[in-house]
Amino acid sequence: MNAIVLAAAAMTGIVAGRYLLTSGGFAWATGRVRPGLYGGLNGQIRKEIGWSLASAAIYGIPAGVVAWGWQEHGWTRIYTDWSAMPAWYLPVSVFLYLVAHDTWFYWTHRWMHRPRPFRIAHAVHHASRPPTAWAAMSFHPVEALTGAVVIPALVFLIPIHAAMLGVVLAVMTVMGVSNHMGWEMFPRWFVHSRVGNWLITASHHQRHHDLYRCNYGLYFRFWDRVCGTDRGLGTL
Ligand SMILES: [Zn+2]
Ligand SMILES: [Zn+2]
Repeated sequence: MNAIVLAAAAMTGIVAGRYLLTSGGFAWATGRVRPGLYGGLNGQIRKEIGWSLASAAIYGIPAGVVAWGWQEHGWTRIYTDWSAMPAWYLPVSVFLYLVAHDTWFYWTHRWMHRPRPFRIAHAVHHASRPPTAWAAMSFHPVEALTGAVVIPALVFLIPIHAAMLGVVLAVMTVMGVSNHMGWEMFPRWFVHSRVGNWLITASHHQRHHDLYRCNYGLYFRFWDRVCGTDRGLGTL
């Protein structure tokens, strides 16, 4: 029992540290690239950090329990032997995780824009106007819970190498932060390229924060396009 509590506490510390480093790094870069962009937002940023640290515990606890079960009881389909699956499966597994997470996010996010769930859960995230690099995990606990269960559930369903899981988490963290920071870090030619056209970067998610009832996706524009909720890119 103590080991589970310890794992949950350790994972909470890791998620909180990862948030502070990544958001802090991109906030620092924002100060260089767009000086003054966060001017006058100190009060908002303090709230974003507060909600994000609370979310770190909500993300850390299920992740810690699953990590403990993996180590102690061989739970999950996470593998560490490079030859356990063919090499082509390494990038495929990353893609499967991102697609599954994106699908879950699109539909839960769209649901949270209905009036009641919005008031209860999602208004906290939209209280950031405009969001900053610190808003990446600025969620009400109810919303944080809907996000926190995804990866811990997927590791029971879809086999993945531990290193590829690290890649998934890195993509999740960097895109979560950079999509809120208020400027586009990808070059214009890439954002408008055939591949870039299907990916969600800051110019797409910023428009969600401006217009609310569109651009609900996380990584890919697939569901927004299929469901007619894609309103294109904002100008950043
Ligand atoms: Zn957002
Ligand atoms: Zn929203």
